[in-house]
Amino acid sequence: MHDASRGASAFHPETTVIIAGRPPHEPDQPMSVPVHLTSTYVAGGELEYGRYGNPSWTAFEETLGALEGARCVAFASGIAAIAAVLDLVEPGGTVVAPRHSYTGTVALLAELESKGLVQAVYVDITDTAAVATASEGAALVWFESPTNPALEVADIPAIVAAAHANGALVAVDNTFATPILQRPIEHGADLVVHSATKYISGHSDVLMGAVVAASDEHVDALVKRRSLFGAIPAPLETFLALRGLRTLPVRLERAQSNARELVRRLADHPALDEVRYPGFGAIVSIVVRGGADAADALVQRTRLWVHATSLGGVESTFERRRRWPSEQPTIPEGLVRLSVGLEHVDDLHQDLVQALETLG
Ligand SMILES: *Cc1c(COP(=O)(O)O)cnc(C)c1O
Repeated sequence: MHDASRGASAFHPETTVIIAGRPPHEPDQPMSVPVHLTSTYVAGGELEYGRYGNPSWTAFEETLGALEGARCVAFASGIAAIAAVLDLVEPGGTVVAPRHSYTGTVALLAELESKGLVQAVYVDITDTAAVATASEGAALVWFESPTNPALEVADIPAIVAAAHANGALVAVDNTFATPILQRPIEHGADLVVHSATKYISGHSDVLMGAVVAASDEHVDALVKRRSLFGAIPAPLETFLALRGLRTLPVRLERAQSNARELVRRLADHPALDEVRYPGFGAIVSIVVRGGADAADALVQRTRLWVHATSLGGVESTFERRRRWPSEQPTIPEGLVRLSVGLEHVDDLHQDLVQALETLG
């Protein structure tokens, strides 16, 4: 159970995700907070204007915040949430980041660096000693775990301890693991970021992001940035994201068991050089023998698996990551990232195997 003294719910996550962010149990109260489609409010209250607040945002924020164990601020997208966190760094401050990160994060860091706003230092996030050394004098240690798409896993408590000893903040992009499998705030992280576009909403129909912050000071700073820069979520999107979030534990349970079974069945497949799986979650990266050409052929020869970027939906999708020029050159050309969905595992396996067999 969560420790209530740390702001988390007194219930298991499977219960919290259902009961948080609801109107009070009173006659004629709706079961769900409706979509509040309004740009302004009658003056004199707390909301005042649609860029400062919306009850549909609040319902989502209360629920994701309760799951991660701190207060949540919703943003227009994952990258808007990341931009708000990076803006907490004073101009010229050092940001430590994994060399394998979401390509958008690396592109944003490069843009900020080109303007002298941050200094980025890239590390192998699995090398905890190197991360600790890099955090000396840094303002922020930023990382994903598991990393996208290399699926490396960071030692969160050890990195938090080293970073804090050096006076650096720690922010974790928890998009791949979700708060069902990993809650970095409980390990001392200051900030947790989500692309709610992925598992949180879970149906490939929403773009949204969120930051969960352990301190009220950071919550205030993030709300201020959201109001000033205007990277606000839309009321309908927050409604849909919360609707999706309610089923996250059961979706993830099925997706994870499908992923584990596929990893087991594909482990020795002769058309694959490698099957990477961190042991939890529903993202698997396979490295196709024959490199880019073979991987490009594979993603065109399936019926169920859809060749598409993004991840975390109920449907299985996959993508050769190096098709993006922005992907890191240390990611193999033949690496295909699988986002394992909720279909029957036999159908998913059969569809992949028949496509792999055509590669010869
Ligand atoms: C997709 C993704 C993002 C960016 O989120 P958007 O909602 O697309 O802006 C950030 N981090 C990770 C790990 C992602 O997979």
